[in-house]
Amino acid sequence: MRTVILDKTEVYKGHLLLVNQEHPLREHNTYHPIRLVPVNLEQKDILLEATTATLLSQLLQSIGGNNEIIPISGYRTRQEQEKIFNDSLLENGSTFTKQYVALPDQSEHQTGLAIDLGKYSEEIDFLRPEFIYTGICGEFRKKAAKYGFVERYGKGKETITGISHEPWHFRYVGYPHAQIMQDNRLCLEEYIAYIKAYPYEGKHLHIKENTKDIEVFYVSADLDKMPIELPENDSYQVSGNNVDGFIITLWRW
Ligand SMILES: [Zn+2]
Repeated sequence: MRTVILDKTEVYKGHLLLVNQEHPLREHNTYHPIRLVPVNLEQKDILLEATTATLLSQLLQSIGGNNEIIPISGYRTRQEQEKIFNDSLLENGSTFTKQYVALPDQSEHQTGLAIDLGKYSEEIDFLRPEFIYTGICGEFRKKAAKYGFVERYGKGKETITGISHEPWHFRYVGYPHAQIMQDNRLCLEEYIAYIKAYPYEGKHLHIKENTKDIEVFYVSADLDKMPIELPENDSYQVSGNNVDGFIITLWRW
């Protein structure tokens, strides 16, 4: 076994951050700057967190969707989110804005892990691009979880997410998390709660895949420096949940 130390400030860092009205982004994020890269060569002004950008382009390539599916909005600074919110208030009024535009620090777009996608057309709505459930958009949806993406604001989850159904807004959470969410019809709020039933000290969640065994569990951030023991040879990923702890993913081959 080897000891890994989880630092409490890293609760606010990682691919599984829950960002919503109840759990806004914190000042802490400035201690963990994300690596941002352009979403593709033609749209250098649209940035995403590096892994998110790589997996999105692999997913689009795998379905031959590069000309038909257009990234509309990726990473936003706090100032940009504030401007979009205020502009929408003026243009669309408060009912619409509260339904579709998050307040500054409550927007996933500030994490670099979210992307709004639109089906190619002459005119694409910036706030609510069309992204349907059939054709190339349907192909995208079928493969999204394997590449770590989920439709973040699903139909029927409005009271939990606090945001209206947004067929165009995808969030990178990574594999196998996206797959577990999809298979169990969980939105991110529910998934973060679900994983807590698999604590470090207890029974872990196992996903069997051919010769692979993927293990997922939750560690509560009880100490400023939280030591955990992990098997020597397994590769692992740690993500904070932006609430109160960490989600650990172990890959056993
Ligand atoms: Zn969005």
